[in-house]
Formats: sequence, C-alpha cells, structure tokens
Amino acid sequence: MMTEGHISNLKCKACSREFPTFVFVADTDMATSGMMSITVVSSHNIILLCQRTPVSDAQCEASVASRIGEECKAVPLLRSADRHIPSDDFQEFMRNYVPPELFYRCIHCGGEATPVSEQTKEEFTQKHKITVLED
Ligand SMILES: [Zn+2]
Repeated sequence: MMTEGHISNLKCKACSREFPTFVFVADTDMATSGMMSITVVSSHNIILLCQRTPVSDAQCEASVASRIGEECKAVPLLRSADRHIPSDDFQEFMRNYVPPELFYRCIHCGGEATPVSEQTKEEFTQKHKITVLED
C-alpha cells in the first residue's frame, strides 16, 4: 500500500485552530488514487483510507466515523493562490520563486486553513496515531 508522504500542520484563518493532514507523495497519480487522509476531530489522529471504489468526502467521513466511533473530517484542498512574481528572465524567475499558497478546508469550522509547519510520519507518530483502513 502506498502511504508515502508527510504531515502538514494547518492553521485556520477563520477560527485560528490548528490541525494536521497527511499529504501523499507519489510519482504518479495512479499510486495515490483511492487514498484519502481523514483527520479525527477530537484527537487530531490521522486515518488513511484506502478505497477500491472512490466515493465522496462525505461518504468517506461517514464510513470512517462509524468504524472508529469518532467524528472525523476529510481535509480537501480548496484552492491555491499563486504568489509568484512573473519574470521573463529565467534566473530571476528561479531566484524569486515562491510556491503557491495552499488553502485547505478547516475540520472545525469549514473555513480556509493554510500550512504552518511540516512533520515526518515518524515525528508525528511520537504523539499521535496514523491508522490505515481499507474499505
Ligand atoms: Zn476553522
């Protein structure tokens, strides 16, 4: 099973609460298709759901919630905002390059949350749990 990736800690711009999500890293889209990261609302533990048949976020949340008996939320990417300053000069382009800012949906209020820090799986699992579930 493909569970390569890292933890991105997000902070909500609306309610100021922080929570983690798992960001999958793979060479191709094929490798992560059907994998979804779900965050447990109360504990901020992470559930990685492997779906053979992809279903909607709401269906995944409901299915995981019923299996673990806790409220949990998917953390979809809502939008990304380009912060890059355009330039015709390639050297200048590379020097000034800033990756786009990513906006995810807050698990607490549904507002927009942006990354504040990253952790490896090993760092995260010192205090939290990552559980892999198959449908
Ligand atoms: Zn929020």
